[in-house]
Amino acid sequence: MAQISNPLPTADLQALDAAHHMHPFTHGAALGAKGARIITRAEGCWLTDSEGNRILDGMAGLWCVNLGYGRQELVDAATRQMSELPFYNTFFQTSHAPAIQLAARLAELAPGDLNHVFFAGSGSEANDTNLRMVRTYWELKGQPARKAVISRWNAYHGSSVGSGSLGGMKGMHAQGGMPIPDIHHIDQPNWWAEGGDLSPEEFGLERAKQLEAKIQELGPENVAAFIAEPLQGAGGVIVPPESYWPEVMRIVREYGILLIADEVICGFGRTGNWFGSQTLGIQPDIMTIAKGLSSGYLPIGGSIVSSEIARVIGDAEFNHGYTYSGHPVAAAVALENLRILDEEGIITRVREEIGPYLKEKFESLTEHPMVGEASIVGMMGSIALTPDKARRAAFRGEEGQIGLMTRERCFANNLVMRHVGDRMIISPPLVISKDEVDVLIARAWKSLDEAMAQAKSEGLF
Ligand code: PMP
Repeated sequence: MAQISNPLPTADLQALDAAHHMHPFTHGAALGAKGARIITRAEGCWLTDSEGNRILDGMAGLWCVNLGYGRQELVDAATRQMSELPFYNTFFQTSHAPAIQLAARLAELAPGDLNHVFFAGSGSEANDTNLRMVRTYWELKGQPARKAVISRWNAYHGSSVGSGSLGGMKGMHAQGGMPIPDIHHIDQPNWWAEGGDLSPEEFGLERAKQLEAKIQELGPENVAAFIAEPLQGAGGVIVPPESYWPEVMRIVREYGILLIADEVICGFGRTGNWFGSQTLGIQPDIMTIAKGLSSGYLPIGGSIVSSEIARVIGDAEFNHGYTYSGHPVAAAVALENLRILDEEGIITRVREEIGPYLKEKFESLTEHPMVGEASIVGMMGSIALTPDKARRAAFRGEEGQIGLMTRERCFANNLVMRHVGDRMIISPPLVISKDEVDVLIARAWKSLDEAMAQAKSEGLF
C-alpha cells in the first residue's frame, strides 16, 4: 500500500492545530500548551502517530471502528459509489439504490416491527429526528399534549441543542442554553456510585420506578417518550442491575409511552448481538443508530422506527431532513460494513469467543488495588477506580483527577483508554485478537500502577 507521508513536521502541525483548529470536548488552552498527538495511519486495532509510535486503540476511535482500520472492501465500496453517484438527495420523491438497500437491510436486522429507516448524518442528528418524530406522531394521533420526553442524568445522546438536551450531561447543560423545554431527567442506574446500601437488584428497581413517578408527576397524557441507551456509554459504561430494564419495559407499556433505545454505541455487534436491545431484552419503538453502522469510515446515522410510527408519520408530510440523509457513498460503505460483519461471523465471535475472553481478562483487573469493580458486556467495559473497594469510596480531591492521570499513563504506554470521572473505559474494535487483548490488559495494569504511585505521591490516595 502506498505510504502517505506527513505533509509537515509534527511541531508545525501542532502549531497550526493550536492556531486554527477548535477541538470537540477539549480545553483549548491546555491542548495548545501541550500540542495534540497527531495520528497519521491505522491498521487493524493499531494507530500510528506522527512520531512513529504504535498505539493500541482500546476505544475503536470513538466507539465506532467496529471492523477495525484498513478494510480495503470499505474503501472499494466508497470508490465505486463515488464514481457512479457521489451525491444525490432523498428529498422530494427521489431515491437511490444505496439508501434503499441499506434501509431494507436494517429492517431485516432490527428486532420486532422496526421496519423503517430515517437517515441522518450522525447520532446527534438522529436523536433530533427522534425528538421531532415522537412529538409529531402524537400530534397526528390527536394527542398534541404528549410533548414531554423523559431521559436520564448522565445519559449521552449527542451535542446538538436537541440531542444535548435529551442527554443528561450537566456540564453540557451549563453551556449555551440547554436543556430546551419539555425534557425531563431521572436518575441513572449506576449502582457503584449511587446505590448506597441497597443491593444492586433493589437499586435497579428503585431507579426504574423513578420513571413511573416522573410519568405520574407530569401526567401520562403529557408524556411522549422515554429515551435511554441500553448500556450507558459516554456516561462511563454503566451496566444496569438486571432488575432495571424489565421494570422499565413494564412501565413504558403500562403508560403507553414510546421507548427510544439509543443504539449509537451498543448497535452493530458491540454487545454480542446486532443491537444492545436484543442483549438486554428491550423492545423499543425507535432505535437511534450511527457509529458502528459504517464502522466510522464515513459519517452516517439514522432512526429505525416501528411500522406503526412510520404509518402515522407517513400519513402527513414530515417537515424534516438533512442534505446528507441517506448519503449514497456513506450508505454504500455501511452496506458493505454490514455484509462483512455478517459474513465473517464477527458478532457471533463477540458473543461466543472474544467477548468472553475479554471479560475474563478485564475482570482480572479487579485484583489491582485501585480497581473496585469491572462492568463489561460484549466489547464495552469499564472499571471503577477507588481508594477503598469495600466502601466504594471516592478519592480525595476533585472527581476525575485519578481517572485523568490513568488515561495519561495509558497514552504514555501506547494504549488508548478513556476516562469518565474515575471510571476507565474500553470499547475496542470487535476484531481484536486474543494476543491484543493480552497487550491491552498488560498496558492497562502498568498504567494503573503508575497512576496509583503518582496519586500516592500527590496525597490523593
Ligand atoms: N448517542 C450515543 C449513545 C452516543 O454515544 C453518541 C456519541 N458518542 C451520540 C448519540 C451522538 O452521536 P454523534 O457524535 O455521531 O452525533
